[in-house]
Amino acid sequence: MKKAYRLVHDENLCIGCQACSVACRAENKIPEEVYRLQVTVSMRAQDHTMDFTRRSCVMCDNAPCVEVCPTHATFQMRDGIVLVDEKRCVSCKYCALACPYGARYTDPLTKALQKCDFCYSSRILKGELPACVEVCPTDALAFGDINDPQSAPALKLKNNVSIYPKAHLGTKPKVVIIPNAKGMPRE
Ligand code: SF4
Ligand code: SF4
Ligand code: SF4
Repeated sequence: MKKAYRLVHDENLCIGCQACSVACRAENKIPEEVYRLQVTVSMRAQDHTMDFTRRSCVMCDNAPCVEVCPTHATFQMRDGIVLVDEKRCVSCKYCALACPYGARYTDPLTKALQKCDFCYSSRILKGELPACVEVCPTDALAFGDINDPQSAPALKLKNNVSIYPKAHLGTKPKVVIIPNAKGMPRE
């Protein structure tokens, strides 16, 4: 059966420690001036509680960046993972303009438009978790195939209210948010 990968971010368990972002940088050798993954921190004025928001590629099933890429440098695997072939990228930035999540960045060395790939080649194909999920100290992140009802993301999603970011756009993200229960779900 085709895999249905999900990466779940439970905002209630997140402490904003940035271990995920640091692990991503090390795993994928990301230059200092850019990032594939950030967890931003904001404070609510009314009660001084913190919100932690994960910012990265949400790995759309219906990916606008794939649709617009003129050279097929951005392409999709059969299991839905969207990848970038840097050798084919001509830096036209169409993908960055099409992405509703602001997920693309220009690699300062190769000039290719890059993004998170769930550590596809370096970890997923070896049966390992993405680096961010591996290091998260609070289990705020869960990754796996939700066709397996016992997988970590399936169990998390079974017991919690969840949202798919900007679901109204029809992009069908594979990143799912369990929103901070102290407030309303955000886009
Ligand atoms: S490692 Fe986990 S707890 Fe720390 S910022 Fe990332 S998601 Fe949140
Ligand atoms: S979030 Fe942006 S970069 Fe990632 S697959 Fe969707 S459109 Fe492409
Ligand atoms: S910048 Fe590269 S990956 Fe993005 S649309 Fe152009 S050729 Fe494709």
